[in-house]
Amino acid sequence: MSAFIDKVRITVKAGRGGDGAVAFHREKFVAAGGPDGGDGGNGGSIVLRVDDHMSTLMDFRYKRKYTAADGIKGEGGRRKGKAGENLIIKVPRGTVVRDAETNEIIKDMSDDEDFILAKGGRGGWGNHHFATPTRQVPRFAKAGLPGETHDVILELKLLADVGLVGFPNVGKSTLLSVTSNARPKIANYHFTTLFPNLGVIYVEEGVSFVMADIPGIIEGAAEGAGLGHDFLRHIDRCRLMIHVVDVSGSEDRDPVEDFEKINAELREYSPELAERPMIVAANKIDLLPPDSDNLERLRKYVTERGYEFYEISAATTAGTRDLMKVVAGKLAQLPPVIVYEPEYVKPLAEAGGVEELTIEQFDDVWSVSGLWMERLLGDVNFDDYESRMYFDRQLRRSGLFARLEEMGIQDGDTVSIYNWEFTYEK
Ligand code: GDP
Ligand code: MG
Repeated sequence: MSAFIDKVRITVKAGRGGDGAVAFHREKFVAAGGPDGGDGGNGGSIVLRVDDHMSTLMDFRYKRKYTAADGIKGEGGRRKGKAGENLIIKVPRGTVVRDAETNEIIKDMSDDEDFILAKGGRGGWGNHHFATPTRQVPRFAKAGLPGETHDVILELKLLADVGLVGFPNVGKSTLLSVTSNARPKIANYHFTTLFPNLGVIYVEEGVSFVMADIPGIIEGAAEGAGLGHDFLRHIDRCRLMIHVVDVSGSEDRDPVEDFEKINAELREYSPELAERPMIVAANKIDLLPPDSDNLERLRKYVTERGYEFYEISAATTAGTRDLMKVVAGKLAQLPPVIVYEPEYVKPLAEAGGVEELTIEQFDDVWSVSGLWMERLLGDVNFDDYESRMYFDRQLRRSGLFARLEEMGIQDGDTVSIYNWEFTYEK
């Protein structure tokens, strides 16, 4: 029995930016060349991409750390260092990415867009940027910045319009197989479905939907395998549930009791999911003994509680096409499949405090760099007055100026923060 992996924790680390170069133009017969140190290349980012050939997170089982390449140092002659290559991590559609610490959603990989999970560090500027009429020999360049690193949880939540729920052996997989292109394992013993199965159901030209058959709830509980509620996450997004009940009595269970037991498990897992629209399909009517009142009792019980009720025989396909038409009609009235909005906000505070900023002095230039500053700059739009004021306030509040003064900065010196400079005045 191979395990189905649908939740993993991984660590991703983007590449560091390459350092800028300090170099001066050299040519025969030219005495003092200008500064021509090139910039460092940016570090590679960690990029997530949906791959529809993947249906589990199995590939992540043994590889837990992902590191993108660093940027290369700049060189003389204004040659820019090569950027580190992005590392593309492929995930199955429906993978929800969470912050490992807070469990907040970072991104729901349900569409086709690539997502940058960890950004590579910016390459440092080479010294050719720092030449001014009064500073013709800048003997400094900027160091590259570290790439982002992040511990995340990947959790697969299948994208299906319809979820099949019910006891093991009631015929969920059979129903999926006779109505869709899916070919799930079907067997007359419990514990058959250890993988969720997805099938596309074509109702008519232009009308189709996706249905999922999941293992879980009670499946395996008797064997003590304890699948528990784990697989239920795969119907979290469903718009409609079909509750399949075996009314044949072939397993010596009572259909009304079965129905209530499954509903109780659903409620326990998620009260919200238990409120999702549900219709009831009484299956195996081909096996129904003539003297059994199972079908009518179940019909009465569920219709009194407001559920729509359908009789089918998945094995002989009686009633299954009609059921799928009803389902398609209902889906047309329901909101689309749930896509999760991001909750996670990159914490500025955790980017290291001002104490961790690097301050270097080159003559009258004070170069400030570090993660905190990079994050702050990322938040600021210098074309916007309000935004500049915000930046100014953050700088004052941060204690950076006090630190600079301690180190001996003078009025009229230059503070150089990445590709941005200003003259210092007390
Ligand atoms: P699941 O555990 O709910 O996915 O159930 P399966 O689809 O694997 O079916 C369990 C067993 O019931 C298999 O042997 C099926 O062939 C059988 N079965 C499913 N639906 C019907 C039905 O409508 N009539 C009859 N006679 N057998 C069925
Ligand atoms: Mg099954």
